[in-house]
Amino acid sequence: MGAPATFRVVVVGGSLGGLNAALWLRAAGCAVTVFERAAVPLEDRGAGIVLHPATIRYLGLPGGQPVEEISAPATWLRYLDPAGHIAHESACAYRFTAYNVLYRGLLRCLGSDHYHLGAECVGFEQDATGVTVRFADGRAERCDLLVCADGIASLGRRLLFPACTPHYAGYIAWRGVVSEEELSEATFALLHGGITYFLLPDGHILVYPIPNRDGVVEPGRRLMNWLWYRNVAPGAALATLSERRGSERWLISIPAGAVAEQAVRQLRHDASALPRPLAETIIRTQQPFIQVIYDIAAPRMAVGRVVLIGDAAFTVRPHVAAGTAKAAEDAWTLAQALRGQVDCLATALTHWDAQQRALGERVLARARTAGEQLQHGRWPVGRPLPFGLYTEGDSALADASGGSWHER
Ligand SMILES: Cc1cc2nc3c(=O)[nH]c(=O)nc-3n(C[C@H](O)[C@H](O)[C@H](O)COP(=O)(O)OP(=O)(O)OC[C@H]3O[C@@H](n4cnc5c(N)ncnc54)[C@H](O)[C@@H]3O)c2cc1C
Repeated sequence: MGAPATFRVVVVGGSLGGLNAALWLRAAGCAVTVFERAAVPLEDRGAGIVLHPATIRYLGLPGGQPVEEISAPATWLRYLDPAGHIAHESACAYRFTAYNVLYRGLLRCLGSDHYHLGAECVGFEQDATGVTVRFADGRAERCDLLVCADGIASLGRRLLFPACTPHYAGYIAWRGVVSEEELSEATFALLHGGITYFLLPDGHILVYPIPNRDGVVEPGRRLMNWLWYRNVAPGAALATLSERRGSERWLISIPAGAVAEQAVRQLRHDASALPRPLAETIIRTQQPFIQVIYDIAAPRMAVGRVVLIGDAAFTVRPHVAAGTAKAAEDAWTLAQALRGQVDCLATALTHWDAQQRALGERVLARARTAGEQLQHGRWPVGRPLPFGLYTEGDSALADASGGSWHER
């Protein structure tokens, strides 16, 4: 039994968390509208995303897209040595996709009728019977439940918990993608079938293939996605990386084109000392960008009729590859909690809050530990990757022919 169609939900934030919330709440019988601040569809956010069963639960429903059509497989994990030789190789079963592939797929499922771009939420007030959500253009929406899926700098979180501030992890991720067609034969041969790690005393690098911008997953036509995590002191050292100094309250990411030219030159210079396949991949990337790494933990995920999901609630370091999976899981569990429970919303939300907050805290702790070890020379060559949402390893996806990849 679903919630009555009169149960109105406003979702603020139309990225992967917001889309998952809208789809699952709609499936549970709610009338859902999404409001996204960006004026145009969110095509170029981030780059590679490690799939997890939770991430593709909706897309994998019968009639949806087969996982092998939206992702690149990795059948091995390799660690390189400083000469660029394979220091360790073991089997794995990960699949990688790109942000825009997931976004387009989920938005296609939702349709555009109840998805509004250029709609920035500027505040909300709640009372015993509902929430009034205000937007920058003066519009106001009344709803029974407000879902804030508004990401790392969440307005919802700042209004509910002004004292909850992000904690800079002490390092950044340089990121980029380069077409497999632009790589030498030797580099393509080394990198294309799996995920490759290289450990440094003060950082680490990983590389894996993802679909290209048109969603093509054929080897040789995809993109090679890389991340180089580098320790950077807070304050002035961090600020010099951006051309737009002082324009943000705190730096979240420095998109391609906004990274300081001198910093890109330095990156390329430093990359030339890396093992040759990695140097080539990084140096041939035209527009590297930067993700600044933070830990954020909201003290609660539900306050009255307002909930926080995904990065708005907990932003975790990327090492466990669970950011997108967690947002999707928050959304799915919220819809499960509300099914048939709209008359006792407070009780349903209290239970959901405790359950998802415990998950968020566990993922955050695992990601923080992995990050400290990886960034400070304490991660041994050959160790299995910490990818996973509930436990290390649960990001592994059996081949679609195994049948059960969309179920947890
Ligand atoms: C540069 C970058 C790279 C990333 N790479 C990876 C990766 O490789 N793997 C992975 O799993 N995760 C990655 N992530 C995290 C991942 O994108 C998120 O975990 C995932 O998208 C789910 O997040 P979300 O929907 O909760 O928030 P987000 O994706 O951040 O979306 C929040 C949305 O809310 C909108 N918004 C914000 N404020 C308002 C407002 N006031 N009104 C209306 N709309 C608003 C924003 O425009 C945005 O679209 C990355 C994030 C960033 C920033």
